[in-house]
Amino acid sequence: SKVPSITLNNGIEMPQLGFGVWQIEDDQASTAVGQALEAGYRSIDTAAIYGNEAGTGKALAASGIARDELFVTTKLWNSDQGYDATLRAFDTSLGKLGLEYADLYLIHWPLPSRDTYVDTYKALEKIYADGRAKAIGVSNFLPGHLERLLGETSVVPAVNQIELHPQFPQAESRAVHARHNIVTEAWSPLGQGKGLLEHPTLTELAAKHGRTPAQVVLRWHLQLGNVAIPKSVTPSRIAENIDVFGFELDDADLAALAGLDSGTRLGPDPATFDVG
Ligand code: NAD
Repeated sequence: SKVPSITLNNGIEMPQLGFGVWQIEDDQASTAVGQALEAGYRSIDTAAIYGNEAGTGKALAASGIARDELFVTTKLWNSDQGYDATLRAFDTSLGKLGLEYADLYLIHWPLPSRDTYVDTYKALEKIYADGRAKAIGVSNFLPGHLERLLGETSVVPAVNQIELHPQFPQAESRAVHARHNIVTEAWSPLGQGKGLLEHPTLTELAAKHGRTPAQVVLRWHLQLGNVAIPKSVTPSRIAENIDVFGFELDDADLAALAGLDSGTRLGPDPATFDVG
């Protein structure tokens, strides 16, 4: 079953389900991305800091899949914020990926204490104007950071990629994004596979639908309208995580999943995160 697309605010189509490659070594990334492409994924989420843009690019090239059928996201690392450094970092990323253009380029973290994300975003606008990224956006931006960007720049971010899973459902950010026609992309969509997938609510819903807990969680993302980018290096799980288009959660299921909100992040708080 084919992955449906979401239309971004500039008309570009983005697959609603993609493959994330954080914490996959460069050489393992080419294998994992190859397996993902084989399983039907067409959207790959990498980042300069993941150190696997080259391995990712190798798998993309080896697949023989037409460039316009692929959707490749990469991200600007913190140490490269600032207008000129961003332009250079983007060139480096494209070179490692072996691509002429990125489909989506994101600022990885806002780093509010450095106060450089507006200038950095202006470099993304230049990259976008030059056609070297089909869409631009941000990651880990809190509503206040987005409001500032909207006030001081001209291209509305297509996407904000944020930590989001049933234990941290990000209702406020999702509402802000919806108001500005920004797509919400969920990172760690499976809650990093830790406690979440063993929660009794998920075990029950999985049994009810004859699916796995991971599939139930991914279905929840899709029905919320999120883009989700689960990661796995296990071929059976890579395939399982894209096989989520043959069933539907009902209102009672969604209400049960709403009960999992613990209000706690797995990752850093973007208000204070400042490394690299
Ligand atoms: P995830 O929620 O996708 O969980 C991945 C882990 O869950 C796997 O390592 C595995 O242990 C387990 N898992 C995967 N499929 C499973 C299945 N079917 N059944 C049981 N367990 C399964 O976590 P993630 O890797 O943190 O996030 C996904 C992607 O999001 C990353 O690879 C990266 O691309 C992106 N990301 C972005 C940021 C950011 O700051 N923008 C931060 C973290 C992650």
